Amino acid sequence: APVPPGLPACAQVDLSAISSNVSALKSRAGDAEVMAVVKADAYGHGLVPSARAALRGGATWLGVAQLPEAVELRRAGVVAPLLSWLHVPGQDFTEALELGIDLGVSTTWALDQVMAAATATGRTARVHLKVDTGLGRNGAWDDDLAALLSTLAGAQAEGSVEVVGLFSHFAYADAPQHPTVRAQQERFEGIIEQAARAGVEPQVRHLANSAATLTNPSAHYDLVRPGVSVYGLSPVPDLGAPEDFGLREAMRLVSRLSSVKDSPAGQGVSYGHVYTTAEPTKLGLVPMGYSDGVPRHATSVGPVQVGDRRYVVAGRVCMDQFVLDLGADSPALAGDEVVLFGVGAQGEPTAQDWAAAIDTINYEIVTRVGARVPRVHV
Ligand code: PLP
Repeated sequence: APVPPGLPACAQVDLSAISSNVSALKSRAGDAEVMAVVKADAYGHGLVPSARAALRGGATWLGVAQLPEAVELRRAGVVAPLLSWLHVPGQDFTEALELGIDLGVSTTWALDQVMAAATATGRTARVHLKVDTGLGRNGAWDDDLAALLSTLAGAQAEGSVEVVGLFSHFAYADAPQHPTVRAQQERFEGIIEQAARAGVEPQVRHLANSAATLTNPSAHYDLVRPGVSVYGLSPVPDLGAPEDFGLREAMRLVSRLSSVKDSPAGQGVSYGHVYTTAEPTKLGLVPMGYSDGVPRHATSVGPVQVGDRRYVVAGRVCMDQFVLDLGADSPALAGDEVVLFGVGAQGEPTAQDWAAAIDTINYEIVTRVGARVPRVHV
């Protein structure tokens, strides 16, 4: 689909790709259910439409980091089980309980506040205990874990809390063969037993991100939590492209040339003149910049396609625009489509190509697309 008239750029999001990716993940997951991770505006793809597409594809749960993301889904009428796991002290969980949002809990302060909200609302809080099995990030371990288990057992007995889940997260998202993966699984299973001894027996145990969902069936447990693969990106680009896992990139980032002008040889281009034309040429102006998520580090390396030709960004990426050296013989005209990334089937770059070009991960390429770029769901 072309960029809608009057818009400098848009991110086209193929919702049927999201549904079909989830259904591919579901068949990989075997008996485990699928929680589609839709945090960070569904990795930049648009929260509510992407969540609905994931549910159509067979996800039975949704996962987000922050509570406001979960609240937005409920307010939009999404009724599926929904987990939010990253909180800050002072957070009021009353609304979360009223909206039937499951809460990840990894600290005593969070559990205290969840229990206070349960008392205030007269509702039973649905909690998933988040444990650190070796990531060294969010999650309880050691004495904190023992204290949380004992408080949870008491709260469960008095009916203020229901321990729905127990979960953890892998450190090596992109290296499923790394020895820490096995070590984390063993620790996870040890904690499941420790919890049972403390009288806490969650219904769903979940550990697998995209990489583990696709490559490590022994980590599936009751529920898998894929994120990046839902959007058709490979979590392990060194091991396989999306199509190797039955996935298709959902986002296509497009703009169009806002001008094409003749330039002499030896013309410095954009701030600091880090690029100079070698010969008489045509310069194409693309109305997207770092505020739209085009990384400034893409200067001289970011790949784009115009017509059937590939270019790299010429000169510095600016806040709202960047330049292409189209070549003297280019047939391109103002208004022509510029594809930054897509599925790659027509020779266009992919989000993974952008990630490789600027030495980052495909996750960052799609999540950084700016708020100013409309998401057009197709
Ligand atoms: N689970 C948790 C707790 C996460 O933080 C994330 C994302 O970082 C995911 C699952 C999804 O991971 P991925 O996008 O690698 O599938």
